[in-house]
Amino acid sequence: MDYYSFSTGDSEVVILKKNILLIHTGGTISMSEDTSGSVKPGTNNPLMEGTGLLSKLANLVVEEPFNLPSPHITPKEMMQLKQLIEQYEQADTIEGAVITHGTDTLEETAYFLDLTVQASFPIVVTGAMRSSNELGSDGLYNLISSIKVASSDEAKGQGVLVVLNDEIHAALNVTKTHTSNLSTFQSPQYGPIGIVTKRGVHFHHTPTKHENYSITDADKKVVLIKAHAGMDSSLLKAILGLEIDGVVVEALGQGNLPPAALEGVTDLIKNNIPVVIVSRSFNGIVQDIYGYEGGGKHLKELGVIFSNGLNGQKARIKLLVALAKTDKMEEITEMFMF
Ligand code: ASP
Repeated sequence: MDYYSFSTGDSEVVILKKNILLIHTGGTISMSEDTSGSVKPGTNNPLMEGTGLLSKLANLVVEEPFNLPSPHITPKEMMQLKQLIEQYEQADTIEGAVITHGTDTLEETAYFLDLTVQASFPIVVTGAMRSSNELGSDGLYNLISSIKVASSDEAKGQGVLVVLNDEIHAALNVTKTHTSNLSTFQSPQYGPIGIVTKRGVHFHHTPTKHENYSITDADKKVVLIKAHAGMDSSLLKAILGLEIDGVVVEALGQGNLPPAALEGVTDLIKNNIPVVIVSRSFNGIVQDIYGYEGGGKHLKELGVIFSNGLNGQKARIKLLVALAKTDKMEEITEMFMF
């Protein structure tokens, strides 16, 4: 058995080193700042150079399937990650996985993996707000925290986790809330499910639900649009002319839309294109409360699907996964009731 130890001052803590799969995908955590202040990927991933230091914490197997800023990530790369992790699951050689990822779309990849990966070990996604050579760089620190979480027995069965800034979040709830602050990742309404300290990993909540779907592709096209005062049907009608398989609308308040947008919604549904609504308010759940034209009750009568508290970008991922399984409206509606 392979161990690492650290001193707390009074005593020596000895921890069993686990076999951890470390997958680098790019993002600020893998970038450096040049002399002009521009942050971008270099020819070498600086995290690869840090592997020696990390090897003290775990027996690492390192993979780098691609090196992309996260605005370049698509469902194709998400699928690639799912398949890579599942290959290791089948080989039964690792005990946890950590993925480094750009923070801009990190929550989408984390939630996609949460919904689709079939693995028995903890999966942690992390990133950084400051690149490797910036003052106060958080990359290596977040990576060390993530390896500790992925090595923790308590992390098993909690779904995919997102670890940054000493906090452990459920992929289902976490979102990027600030453009540059280190504490950008928050779980509005729910909070983190645990914290990482110098001494270890502490979970204080457990997610009450976890859904997982077996899919073999994620090729459908789903768009996300935001409702606003004065919204009409023009954009929704234009979608009908494109090859789009599903639409998510960030609706108003508890789940309402302006009357002028209803013709577009109705046309989409008549053409068997699911329309899912979330709220553009980032706390709370959309519901069929209001009975006026365009109110939630009316939208439900029109066949709009209500998402159960997801934000827009996550509902889009879920619709993508749902459409990979079925094109039946009732089945998709049921999946969104979970
Ligand atoms: N734009 C960067 C990315 O998402 C931001 C980051 O990684 O923090 O790749």
